[in-house]
Amino acid sequence: MMCIKDNIAAVNLQIKSACEQANRSPEQVTLLAVSKTKPIELIKQAYHTGQLSFGENYIQEAVDKISQLKHLQDIVWHYIGPIQSNKTKLIAENFDWVQSVDRAKVITRLNDQRSCNHTPLNICLQVNISQESTKSGIAINEVNTLAEQVALSPNLTLRGLMAIPEKNNAAQSFNQMHKLFTTLKQRYNTVDTLSMGMSGDLNDAINAGSTMVRIGTAIFGER
Ligand SMILES: *Cc1c(COP(=O)(O)O)cnc(C)c1O
Repeated sequence: MMCIKDNIAAVNLQIKSACEQANRSPEQVTLLAVSKTKPIELIKQAYHTGQLSFGENYIQEAVDKISQLKHLQDIVWHYIGPIQSNKTKLIAENFDWVQSVDRAKVITRLNDQRSCNHTPLNICLQVNISQESTKSGIAINEVNTLAEQVALSPNLTLRGLMAIPEKNNAAQSFNQMHKLFTTLKQRYNTVDTLSMGMSGDLNDAINAGSTMVRIGTAIFGER
């Protein structure tokens, strides 16, 4: 029988020991539980262990879950999937964070569609750090321009960068991401998030300075 509670405890322990090895404090690393394709029941179980941040990739599935879990008001929802322009309104209206922002048009639309009565939508730019043609994300030389656009958008808050590196050179990519993040942080005082590391590579990511690991399989099982 899969036990979400035990899985979360094990992941938190892994985060703690990775932080100790890297001489970092575990409070510097947020656990994002990636619940895509998994039922509401498992999200509730995770929530009742104290897990508050959840990541989703598929907009319709996510909107259904968010509306069914509206009563759990302290859940923080992160959109981490590819963004189609015609879905930005649903994202702007339902999520607290978007980590997969990768083009100017999407930034414009999210800013226009986020209600000014709402807290600003938290934004991470997704960087295609391993330059894979099959992955979304911006090139390194686009970071400055898009970061500036987000920073100038009143209904958005620039929080940082997200990446999904290629497996075989992940450690090097994580270090490159940390350099980019450090530079961005010096320029914008709202930047505090470097989102990298998944079930298979969270130790390397934390060692390189990740502040948020996105964990699906190790919490909810295989998809
Ligand atoms: C699915 C997904 C994850 C979680 O991956 P696991 O290997 O299951 O931990 C993390 N980040 C993104 C962007 C994802 O799409």
